[in-house]
Amino acid sequence: MLTKVNHPFKMQEVQDPVPGPGQVLIRIAASGLCGTDIHIWRGEYRLPLPLVLGHEPVGTIEGLGPGVKSLRNGDRVGVSWTQGGCGRCISCREVEPKYCETAITWVANGGGNADLMLAEATGCTLLPEGLEWTTAAPLLCAGFTVMSGYRNAAPRPGDRVAVLGMGGLGHLALQVAKARGHEVIAVTSTPDKRPELLALGADAVLVGADHVGKALWEQGGVDVILSTSNAMDQNSRALHGLRPEGRFVSMAVGQEPIAVPPTLLLTRQLVVQGSMQNHRRDLVEILDLAATGAVRPRVETYAFDEINTALRRLADRQVRFRAVIEMPRAS
Ligand SMILES: [Zn+2]
Ligand SMILES: [Zn+2]
Repeated sequence: MLTKVNHPFKMQEVQDPVPGPGQVLIRIAASGLCGTDIHIWRGEYRLPLPLVLGHEPVGTIEGLGPGVKSLRNGDRVGVSWTQGGCGRCISCREVEPKYCETAITWVANGGGNADLMLAEATGCTLLPEGLEWTTAAPLLCAGFTVMSGYRNAAPRPGDRVAVLGMGGLGHLALQVAKARGHEVIAVTSTPDKRPELLALGADAVLVGADHVGKALWEQGGVDVILSTSNAMDQNSRALHGLRPEGRFVSMAVGQEPIAVPPTLLLTRQLVVQGSMQNHRRDLVEILDLAATGAVRPRVETYAFDEINTALRRLADRQVRFRAVIEMPRAS
């Protein structure tokens, strides 16, 4: 439980939650840590405290609230960030609850860094049989995000893809593009990641280029850039590496602008798009890719009582590539 920003998580005994109407009770098996957790922990992303974090939770359903029909006790599920909408605003009525300003999320129901967690049934997605808990957990945020990024790029067969930023998200984006048959260039500022990125399927690794766009262009350019980098100056330069009708998809948070030269935009008819966790089918797609072994998050696992070690490593950018907490009763 986070009680104060920049302080270690506190272990705290609380009463077992009781699922309300439309909710389920989940016995957590594993819970992934995400970069967003660090923003919350540092107070850059302000949320009311105390709060149980954890928005990459997976586990087994152990209780059903009134009215839940689609899920059963014993189901293995993961919970998305957005669990439901108000059902009444224009976004809920016309589009999807992900745009709802009062969407129900883990912030209201409590996160997955706990033995038991409440979630809206509508926020749960069944996991493929046999998919390991620690493999599944990072797919609920990192995996979902990059799968939507890939789909939002409107990829065509034969498209050449560059992935910017080789952390928790980027190493999955690389595997997604590879699994879907693309030639993939991994772009990183960390030279010693090269062997791992080649092992993950990168056809080429571009390390520490001063001007990523020029470097990509000199190598023939790319049709799609999936960017997980929050270095906006790098993202701005990367646009120059796009071929005509190329698509740049940003999945990073940040305050700095991405600079888009209008002439470049016009003469190459580029698309610059933002992407978050989009359709549930994207989540299902990456879960299925992981179940076949085509995509496999590289994780460091920690016991529940080691969560502050994991948090510290994540804050210090030491984690390769995702940290996952394994709960004692995981099986
Ligand atoms: Zn996340
Ligand atoms: Zn709404």
